[in-house]
Amino acid sequence: MYSFTDRDGTSLTLRPEATAGVVRAYLESGLVHTDPTARLWYAGPMFRRERPQRGRYRQFYQIGAEVLGRDDPLADAELLVMLNAYLAAVGARDARLELNSLGDATCRPVYRERLREFGQAHLEALCPDCHRRLERNPLRLLDCKVEGCRAVMERAPVMRDSLCEACRTHFTAVRALLDQEGVPYVLDLRLVRGLDYYCRTAFEVVAEGLGAQNAVGGGGRYDGLVAALGGPDVAGVGFALGVDRLAMIVAGDGEARPQLAAVVLPLEERAVGPALDFATRLRREGLAVGLEPPGRSLKALLRGADRQGARLAVIVGEEELKAGRVTVRDLVRREDRPLALALDSPGADLARWVRAEAGA
Ligand SMILES: [Zn+2]
Ligand SMILES: [Zn+2]
Repeated sequence: MYSFTDRDGTSLTLRPEATAGVVRAYLESGLVHTDPTARLWYAGPMFRRERPQRGRYRQFYQIGAEVLGRDDPLADAELLVMLNAYLAAVGARDARLELNSLGDATCRPVYRERLREFGQAHLEALCPDCHRRLERNPLRLLDCKVEGCRAVMERAPVMRDSLCEACRTHFTAVRALLDQEGVPYVLDLRLVRGLDYYCRTAFEVVAEGLGAQNAVGGGGRYDGLVAALGGPDVAGVGFALGVDRLAMIVAGDGEARPQLAAVVLPLEERAVGPALDFATRLRREGLAVGLEPPGRSLKALLRGADRQGARLAVIVGEEELKAGRVTVRDLVRREDRPLALALDSPGADLARWVRAEAGA
């Protein structure tokens, strides 16, 4: 976590994630009473202290959603259906959903003990970090990235074999609903979340091309968190996505530039105002329109407009101002196109004409 001492000696920590803050807001605002099954979302900067790497910045952005007050499998499934639709909508086609169940307060202690016994039996093959994890939280043995530890943990017992009847039923129902909606996922029986309030459904969104730390986001059930923050025993499930990491896997990498329908070219200072107005009215109609400053020759301006890939150049010079009409040059056919519309025609009419002429 990013902690430091403020000028007055106060110790500050910048938030590393938002779920705890959302739950605190749910309690302090009274939503827990007025809207106990609230569905909430957030977007904003979070912070980590560790050395920045590609796509892992000290200040990073997350979006997330939480469903509180619901412990039924429908809440988990509905959230994952939405997450899947969101990833498809932003073009993160290669993202993969990995799913597991972490059990609950009934069955996880049993599993934790089995894992501890397994770790003790393979102590000499585990790294120093894992020796510490063995004492504090054996579940984190499954998280270790050290090759030797991973090889050992491949053979470790998995949570699925220790799930109690209630957890098994819950997980089966979540999966059936995901299958029904055609949401693809892979079971990752070694997927864990380190904190104790996580239970049952746990998932990560991973993608290739991000290196060893390939998670774009993740989430799951945290039925013990509201109580841990001083509230009643209320369930919750949610996810968070890293926007910076998501941007890395979204097709296009920002290379795609919008196809300009037209570039507006004022030829002199007096034409600057009308040219901006013309461009603004077209842009308000949803057209991608370029606008250049005056000061160069018409030939140079037209060449520039051509380089930007525009179909049409809209010329506003001395004659055009006098006549109250613009000249439109077709940059592909290299000819002027008569525009019967006045400079101050309604934007919708101008846009309709430009769309038709530019094929936009
Ligand atoms: Zn290890
Ligand atoms: Zn259980």
